[in-house]
Amino acid sequence: MRFSFECEVCRKELFGKEDLLCKDCNEEMERFLSPSFSNKEYFLYSLYFYKGMVRDLIRKFKYSDARYLSKFFAKKISEYLMINDIKPEVISYIPMNKWKRYVRGYDQARDLAFETAKIMNMDFDEILKREKWTKKLYNLDRASREKTLKDCFVTNGKHREKSILIVDDIVTSSSTINEAYGSLTESGYGSVAFLCLAK
Ligand SMILES: [Zn+2]
Repeated sequence: MRFSFECEVCRKELFGKEDLLCKDCNEEMERFLSPSFSNKEYFLYSLYFYKGMVRDLIRKFKYSDARYLSKFFAKKISEYLMINDIKPEVISYIPMNKWKRYVRGYDQARDLAFETAKIMNMDFDEILKREKWTKKLYNLDRASREKTLKDCFVTNGKHREKSILIVDDIVTSSSTINEAYGSLTESGYGSVAFLCLAK
């Protein structure tokens, strides 16, 4: 929980209680905006480059129990969707594996998707689920590892006919997104795009 009203980055006192960053830091954050990326199969929208203050804020969100940052980032995602005229019918997310979720107590990608759907007045659903524990991948040989990853997402089968936006926090390699996309298309989803905070 956050008790003080100072800028999350530079600690300067804030006078408007609705923002986490001061005006200067908000402007500074704009410098990290990254262009959208897509490949032949699907769109992957990315808000920022994963560096500098953006990286610090996301790390805090992920590793320091700073769950309140989800609302701040969801606002940024909503602005991005509006500016770029992206209007999905349903917002969902890439779930963490069960072990990590158990340790952290919350899933930050779920928080992002949930808060964004709330702001945008769009439907939220948990379309993807992790089917297997992916914790001990390093113990496996390459073939088994690929098989384990391949089996890692299942869908709930809902909203197949709608346009879906799948949210994640950071994307370092596209393998997870590819797996999710594969599971969704195999289950008959026709319109799927992805969005991450940073990559
Ligand atoms: Zn500041």
